Amino acid sequence: MYDVIIIGSGPAGLTAAIYAGRAGLETLVVAGITFGGQLMLSGEVENFPGFPEAILGPELMDKMRKQAEHFGAKFLFQDATAVDFSSKPFKVKLGSQVFEAKSVIIATGASPKWLGLESEARLRGKGVSSCATCDAPFFREKKVVVIGGGDTALDEALALTKFAKEVTLIHRRSELRATKILQDRAFSNKKIDFVWDSTVEEILGRNRVEGIRVRNVKTGKESEIATDAVFVAVGHEPNTDIFRAQIELDNNGYVVVREETKTRVEGVFAAGDVRDPRYRQAITAAGSGCKAAIDAEKYIEEHYS
Ligand code: NAP
Repeated sequence: MYDVIIIGSGPAGLTAAIYAGRAGLETLVVAGITFGGQLMLSGEVENFPGFPEAILGPELMDKMRKQAEHFGAKFLFQDATAVDFSSKPFKVKLGSQVFEAKSVIIATGASPKWLGLESEARLRGKGVSSCATCDAPFFREKKVVVIGGGDTALDEALALTKFAKEVTLIHRRSELRATKILQDRAFSNKKIDFVWDSTVEEILGRNRVEGIRVRNVKTGKESEIATDAVFVAVGHEPNTDIFRAQIELDNNGYVVVREETKTRVEGVFAAGDVRDPRYRQAITAAGSGCKAAIDAEKYIEEHYS
């Protein structure tokens, strides 16, 4: 039996693993088939303290994993398929394998949201993407659009300017949600233009993206924009499907916590984006992973020694 099983391997999960391992707890990280969380899809991370010259997202995650392994955390690169928190020890299932633990830290993060259009699903991988870092090089000297007005949308738009000929940002309001520094960079980038107050009604093309049909929400007028790719950057949703019947979730699916990390099940903690619709930064996720590990350690001390 493990002292703690950490589900998820983004900054929250890996920081929890560093702290739990260093505290001498028997620690298993169920890291998922796709290790490392959202930073694996990002380019340079400029705002993680300690890296004045920026660091690539995947490199940062690799360093965190090594640090956790250094303190004895074990890793399984598979997805957790079910959990049972109804009795102790808690059970975490990976297909037919079952692992038991005195405590569990949920750090499964959040995934990019989609618009929900039929054409979007059909053309995914054929010009529709949610990851500029992954797919921008396919659109060298092409026309691309980005949908959304937050930090992710502007990050994607700026990343795309390194490859694409023209980047059009489509936003449903006339004001961006993104932080000022990214807005300044985007407004001063000659390759980026903006279509305001507009929603995408359909992505056009049979076997690959050829354009989009947008509707101006103020006038109701529809028009078509030719494009070779559509990057959707309209926010995230928490990865909580396997916990649905086991712990309390809010209306948007985020884990409900009290005192920062404690779920309604004593001994089960949550850290990072899975419980945080507000800040969602690598550094805040890391901070909450640290808190969850300290809380798990205290819980084990109180209940098992
Ligand atoms: P976000 O801040 O929630 O922004 C989502 C954007 O998509 C908003 O502009 C929203 O419009 C728009 N949107 C939502 N649903 C839509 C729909 N159905 N159709 C059209 N547009 C839609 O999400 P995010 O940009 O992914 O950022 C998430 C968090 O990560 C934020 O806290 C952000 O600061 C952080 N982040 C930081 C960095 C960085 O520091 N470099 C990079 C990436 C992300 P409205 O504005 O009208 O709501």
